[in-house]
Amino acid sequence: MLVKSFLIPDALKGYVADNWVHEPELLKRLREETSLMTNSGMQIGPDQGVMMGMLTKLIGAKNCVEVGVFTGYSSLSVALALPEDGTIIACDVSEEYTSMARRYWAEAGVANKIDLRIAPATDTLDDLISQGLAGTFDLAFIDADKPNYRNYYDRVLVLLRSNGLLLIDNVLWSGKVADASATDAETLALQDLNRAIHGDHRVEACLIPIGDGVTMVRKK
Ligand code: CA
Repeated sequence: MLVKSFLIPDALKGYVADNWVHEPELLKRLREETSLMTNSGMQIGPDQGVMMGMLTKLIGAKNCVEVGVFTGYSSLSVALALPEDGTIIACDVSEEYTSMARRYWAEAGVANKIDLRIAPATDTLDDLISQGLAGTFDLAFIDADKPNYRNYYDRVLVLLRSNGLLLIDNVLWSGKVADASATDAETLALQDLNRAIHGDHRVEACLIPIGDGVTMVRKK
C-alpha cells in the first residue's frame, strides 16, 4: 500500500496516493526493495517523503541532521530537495541497513551531501555540540529507537537554530499513546516526549496526521 497511515481510511488511500504523491523512480525502487525486508514498517511512506522534501525547500534548509537512517528513504527525500551545498549528518547504528541507503544515495548523485555517522546518535549529537555547532542546524528528523527519543530531542534542540524545524516520527504510535494504562517502554517514552514538548516553552509544536503521526517543532 502506497499510503499506509492508520489515520487515513483504507477506502481513501488509493485516492490520496493518486492525488498527493509524486514519487521519483529511484525512491520508488528503494521503497520496493525495502518492502521485502521483515522490518519494512520502519520506512516512512511516500506521502511523508513528499512533505519532508517540500519543507526542506520551504525553509531553505542547508544543514540537516537525521537520527535514524534505516535504508535511507527519508534522507534521500531531503537530500534531493537540498541545494548543492546542503548537507545531512545521518546517524544510525546499523551498517547493514545503511549500506542499502548508501547505494541509493550514490545512484541519486547525492552521496556528497550525506555524512553518515555509524555510532549511537547521542554520541554523535554530543560531538556536534562540543564542536561548537549548537544553533547551526536548520532541519532535523528523529525516527529511531523510541526509548531514546527524549535524549535525541534534548540534543537536537540545542543544535537547531532559532526558527529551525524538527520533525519527530511515530508520535501517535498507532494510537497507543492515548492508552493511559500502557506499560511498554516505547509507548511510555512517546507519551513522555509528547507531554514534554507540549509544556516546553522553548518551542511551538503541531501534529501532522501523516504516517504514524509526525510532530512538527519550531524552535523559538
Ligand atoms: Ca518511523
